[in-house]
Amino acid sequence: MTLLMKAKEAADQVYAMIREKVEELKTKGIQPQIATILVEGDPASAYYAKAKQRIAEKLGVQFTLHDFRADVTEEEVLRLIAELNQDPKVHGIMLELPLPKQISAAEIERAISPLKDVDGVTPANKLATVTGEAGLYPATPQACIKLLKHYGYSLEGKNVTLVGRGQTVGLPLFHLLQRENATVTVCHSRTPHIASHLSHAEIAFVAVGRAEVVNKHMVHADLVVVDAGINETEDGKMVGDVATDVADHVQAISPVPGGVGTLTTAILYENLLKAVEIQLGEAVIYE
Ligand code: NAP
Repeated sequence: MTLLMKAKEAADQVYAMIREKVEELKTKGIQPQIATILVEGDPASAYYAKAKQRIAEKLGVQFTLHDFRADVTEEEVLRLIAELNQDPKVHGIMLELPLPKQISAAEIERAISPLKDVDGVTPANKLATVTGEAGLYPATPQACIKLLKHYGYSLEGKNVTLVGRGQTVGLPLFHLLQRENATVTVCHSRTPHIASHLSHAEIAFVAVGRAEVVNKHMVHADLVVVDAGINETEDGKMVGDVATDVADHVQAISPVPGGVGTLTTAILYENLLKAVEIQLGEAVIYE
């Protein structure tokens, strides 16, 4: 019987801890605030921003949505970020991707203060993710590892195959996996025979952005699969990168929806509280 690694319980544990800290901060007259930047044009990211807003309300976190029209200029977004960086009431800044083509996501990410960078996208926090220095690490790679550990799996000394080396998930996850002492093989768009790498793997992480990039013929009964993918089918259904029937052919798998994405949101808020500590001088990171 395949273990379905749902994230709700792990996410609820994170939220319970966050609620406690929010209460504690209230006694000091502080309410954590996250500012989310959303540019019109991608219905999925608008949906995710709203979902995060509902969670913020339940946590006692102030959520401020800054939504721009699709024809916004890079300068306008940079101006807002400069203001948010300076505003002592704003503890975290979150940029919803994708952005329209006139705006460089890299330029915008570079402009965010590393101290408020709740999704670990600034150069300083990307470097910290590589070196293991204190920092705000990207949420989705952290969620991938936390979900696995929640179900009692250890990464130490394990053969891990990572499919995808993207900036958001695969690349930072590779570095976090090094610190878990996993032995990692990285597959990407130029890797022939991904199945042969999966055949040696005990654990697989898949973060590609394409439905069914891993199918039942590529896996084995002892494999544990963490699917970080989010794709929308033509009929509007959300699916991962791993074909749904893979679930019958592996030891354990994370579902989509209800897996990595669910825990990612919780970790974003965990990072927000870390950002509050950093800004209060209770924790230090490199800028
Ligand atoms: P990305 O930057 O677009 O990177 C995609 C990676 O997949 C690249 O390394 C690419 O290889 C590789 N790839 C493309 N086609 C492939 C194929 N046929 N076989 C093997 N590898 C292939 O993606 P990302 O931004 O890291 O996101 C990855 C996935 O995570 C997406 O599904 C995204 O929606 C999802 N995601 C989920 C969350 C969440 O909260 N759950 C958050 C963020 C992203 P090359 O390097 O050779 O081009």
